[in-house]
Order: sequence, then C-alpha cells, then structure tokens
Amino acid sequence: MPIVRTSGRLPDGRAIHFYDADPASPRRELAPPGPATTPPASQLRWDAWLDEWVVVATHRQRRTARSDVCPLCPSLGEIPGASYEVVVFDNRYPALPAVTGDPGPAGGHCEVVSYTDDHEVALSGLPLSRVETVVTAWADRTAALNERPDVAQVFCFENRGAVVGATLAHPHGQIYAYPFVPARLRRLAEVADTRWDAHRECVACVTVGREHEDPSRVVVTGEAWTAFVPYAAHWPYEVRVVPHRHVPDLAAVDPWERADLAHVLRRVLGQFDGLFQRPAAYVLSWIQAAARPARPAAHVYAEIVSPMRSPADRKHPAAGELGAGMYVNEMSPERAAAALRGEGR
Ligand SMILES: [Zn+2]
Ligand SMILES: [Zn+2]
Repeated sequence: MPIVRTSGRLPDGRAIHFYDADPASPRRELAPPGPATTPPASQLRWDAWLDEWVVVATHRQRRTARSDVCPLCPSLGEIPGASYEVVVFDNRYPALPAVTGDPGPAGGHCEVVSYTDDHEVALSGLPLSRVETVVTAWADRTAALNERPDVAQVFCFENRGAVVGATLAHPHGQIYAYPFVPARLRRLAEVADTRWDAHRECVACVTVGREHEDPSRVVVTGEAWTAFVPYAAHWPYEVRVVPHRHVPDLAAVDPWERADLAHVLRRVLGQFDGLFQRPAAYVLSWIQAAARPARPAAHVYAEIVSPMRSPADRKHPAAGELGAGMYVNEMSPERAAAALRGEGR
C-alpha cells in the first residue's frame, strides 16, 4: 500500500505533512509558504543536581483549553481542506525552545500528529490501514528529523485522556525532537550498551525470547512484534510492544513489519479500552535510538502505560516514586496481563 506524503506550509509558516493511503484522497494545493514563524520562547535550564535538562515553557499555560473549537477537525481549526487521513504539523505551542539565549543546546522541535479527521474515534478504533498510515508517518518523521543537525533524539508519543494531561479530545499524538538525549532515554541506552559491550547481548531480543517461552505476561503475539507486560512493571497496567527483529528505530522497520505493528498496536490499545469497559487513559511512548552516533545495542519499542488501577482510581506517584525513584506496583504483572487479555472479565 503506497502512502503518499504531501508537504507544505501553513499560512503562518509552520510546516505541515499530509499522509494519504487512499488514491481518492484529495491531493492538496498547499498555500505558498508564509514568513517562518517564531515560536514563543521557552527556556532550557540545566539541573546540575540531577545531570538533566528542564524546559520552562510558561507560554503553554495559554494553550488551547478543552472547551475551545477543536483545532484538529477539518475546516474548523488549523488544518486546511475538508477532509484528511493522517496529518503532521508544527505545534503552535511548542514545549521545546527553538532558540535559546543561554548556553546549551538549541533546536527543539514539536509536532502534532492527527490520526484522523474524525473527532470521535480512537487510535484503537481506526481501520487497520489507517493505523498503518499513522505508523508510516511516525517512521517518516523520525527519519526526516534524525537528519537535522540540531536534533539529537526523536520522541513520538501520545497522551490519551484528561487524566494524563491531554488538552484535546481529538485522536492525536505528538513528536518531540530534542536537541539533547533526555535523561531516561539516556539511561535506557546506557544500560543496553553496557550489556551489549559485556555480553554482545540485546536486552530487548533476550526478553522477547523469554516471553515467548513463558507467555504468562504476553498480551498479543504478532508475526513481527510481541506485546507483553514487563516482568518488573512499574505501573498497574504497562505494556511493551517490541519487534522481533533487532532494529534501532521506526525508520528501520520494514513495510510488512509496519503492517504487523498496526495490527498488534490496535489490539493492545483495544485491550486497554476493554479493561474498564471505557476509553482508557494512557501514555504511549516510542523508545528509539538517538539520532547519532549509531549504537549496535539500540532496539526500538513502544511503552504503553495507564496510571489507572480501576475506572475511578489512579496510581499517584508519591514519596517512594518521586523522592527516591523506587516504584511500588500493587498489581501483579501476570494478573495485569491476564486482565488485558480479557480473562476473568
Ligand atoms: Zn476534532
Ligand atoms: Zn535487540
């Protein structure tokens, strides 16, 4: 299924990319580029105590409130045209500084990924072919942003539900291109590299093999991807979606593997919605290799975490988690996997 990308600029200068799988979709005449916008200023501050960056982005307090007209619905908001399939465009309210006056990395870049022009449907409710188009858009933007000299790490993600801070109900995700490698991703890479250097062993490859031998934590098995609850899950409902092949990022995933990912991802998200018989609040994060240098240990995967223990009760990180960085998970990962598979419902 060839997916066609049409790139251009919005009237205010922000970049926009349409991804269409259906040959009948409108091939757009995009407005000629306007003057490039200067995004509102944010500030990067270095936390010398924790050896990590913090962004101070006070302008984001003004961003679209939930009651406003939806900016992702066609003809109402930011996206030109009467309909679209998948669209990616520069965020009007970027969290990362494009330019900073302070010493430190500059060049942060924030994009919005709208999965559909239908306000009411979730990623898990889209047709398989559309989820595949979303996966292709993630992969294509990862490749394009990794080429930029000011980008160190591409991070594709979705915050779904008001409880995890989503300001728009319209089904969408985001992409941050950081000018540095954020602390948790740096730590994950260091752990993987250390094991690789010592044993020529990939933690993701080894784990997928073990989960296949004992499938008690597996929730979906695909041809090219497996989804499972981690042995040492931090959150009540947490799933990793990992490719069987050792590939560093979504850009390196083959088209047939993308199709399988769409199938596995859609089923896993459907399982999250099935848990409490309602749309689940979750955070979906793509853990990908940094833009450079190439690391032989890098193995891409998605992490899907719901903070909810039950329909009404969420896990609140408290002193153990926030103060000490030590998680207490009151849900057995094996029981969580069985619940996600729909057993005992
Ligand atoms: Zn909408
Ligand atoms: Zn691997």
